[in-house]
Amino acid sequence: MKVLFWGTRGSLPAAAETLDLRQKIIDGIAAGRKGEFPDCSDTPNGTEMARCGFYGTNTSCVEIAGGDECVVCDAGSGIQDLSRRTMADSDGKGLAFNIFLSHPHWDHIQGFPFFMPRYIAGNTIRIYGGHPGLEAVFAYQQAWSNIVLPDRADITFEALEPGRSYDIAGFSVRMIPQNHPGGSYGYRFERNGKAIVYSTDCEHVPPVPDDYPFLDFFRNADLLIIDAQYSAGDAFGTKENWGHSSNTVVSELGAQTGVKRLCMFHNEPTVNDAGLDKFLYDTRRYLKIAEPESTMQIDLAYDGLEIDVG
Ligand SMILES: [Zn+2]
Ligand SMILES: [Zn+2]
Repeated sequence: MKVLFWGTRGSLPAAAETLDLRQKIIDGIAAGRKGEFPDCSDTPNGTEMARCGFYGTNTSCVEIAGGDECVVCDAGSGIQDLSRRTMADSDGKGLAFNIFLSHPHWDHIQGFPFFMPRYIAGNTIRIYGGHPGLEAVFAYQQAWSNIVLPDRADITFEALEPGRSYDIAGFSVRMIPQNHPGGSYGYRFERNGKAIVYSTDCEHVPPVPDDYPFLDFFRNADLLIIDAQYSAGDAFGTKENWGHSSNTVVSELGAQTGVKRLCMFHNEPTVNDAGLDKFLYDTRRYLKIAEPESTMQIDLAYDGLEIDVG
């Protein structure tokens, strides 16, 4: 299984200035003049993006490849790049997509009107979620006052129930309700003995009780993709009850549940690449102090990141 991150920002697409393009060009020219080029070999692990790349600007969209059909988590602005890849790799016809929706907040659905396979007859798009009335939400999004184009694909909606196990697209899938304004849902995908959890837009508040349902839901995941939009100072201060988690609480939860690799997600859209590099560095240091026995790897998601789960 391979996980492809098409959009990783939370709340709002990030402004271009967060990419620090001007400073990167100046630094690159200066380094080139001296013949000193940065070592970017570690970039796939999500470090040194201030010198070697970009965290990106798109909102939530993650593809889980390796099943019987395409599986996608959320349809934020990142789905436009999945759409572009799909149309470049095929004639765009006869395709099937399974989109698991965390919740219908705008940053998780705003890319769907620009997902080209929905405008091609013969394609199938199934949208799964836990909220009632999702079909009406998407119908309104596509209304004449927003987007004019009529759908041609067969688009269906299926409400899932928390706690039940479903066989979808070659995965065993479970869903869990999450603490977020209006509610949201996380998903656990299992296949061939591997487990991937997608859990964004959830506020975890420590200390968690012994029967906290996420302890079982995250248990021994090979990859946990999790909302870590805020620092601890923000999450427990001015942004308390805003529905997002801190880097400290999610790294503790991951370590305590035996997660092998934790990928922080739903990146704060106002923080630039240097700030996100520091955020990742600080989180790794925190884990060493708070959970010194842990061998869990921590990454910070960026648009274009690919993780092979095996
Ligand atoms: Zn969100
Ligand atoms: Zn939300």
